[in-house]
Amino acid sequence: MRVLIVEDETKLAGLLRRALSEDGYLADVAATGDEALWRGRSSAYDAIVLDVMLPGADGFEVCRQLRAAGVWTPVLMLTARDAVADRVTGLDAGADDYLTKPFSLEELFARLRALARRGASARPAVLEVGDLRLDPATRQVWRGEREICLSAKELALLEAFMRRPGRVLSRFELLEHAWDEEYERRSNVVDVYVRYLREKIDRPFGRNSIETVRGAGYRLRQDGGV
Ligand code: CA
Repeated sequence: MRVLIVEDETKLAGLLRRALSEDGYLADVAATGDEALWRGRSSAYDAIVLDVMLPGADGFEVCRQLRAAGVWTPVLMLTARDAVADRVTGLDAGADDYLTKPFSLEELFARLRALARRGASARPAVLEVGDLRLDPATRQVWRGEREICLSAKELALLEAFMRRPGRVLSRFELLEHAWDEEYERRSNVVDVYVRYLREKIDRPFGRNSIETVRGAGYRLRQDGGV
């Protein structure tokens, strides 16, 4: 099994490389985002261990660019903080799993084995629900052929819906998926943004795709609200 370690901290990179080698893995190290892109594109790895904090292009950007280039090697993201926002950003960028620093080598190996078993499989980058489309990489949204301009928060909220079409999502769940700053975490902020979103993705098109489910939350209809 061949693993690419992307980490700019020489000590940690060296430690990981040694540990992986001792366990029978072949391990290469890339110290920058550019090197990671170059290696990730040109060699067949079974998994990539990708640190978020890198000089130049960070881990999220590296992952996004690899996926855009059609490289579907499983990516295990290393995040420094146990932040929901980082994990969501990482998964949206196309990472398969994440590990929060500091971590144990046992856990790293276990995650790598699981990822390698899963293998590299292409996943559609663009989300589609009815005639709504959202590209998390370019942050573009369309209803049919028409592109819709959304703010960052509106986009995050719509993405939370589009990743779970047809499911009733509580205000709390929506806050978890689309908001990172604690001070914004009041449930009425969700209602406000759902209203903004409806004004942009539904009303101009005569649709009703985001349903209010009384006492429970909201649901994005799978048929796009026709
Ligand atoms: Ca780092």
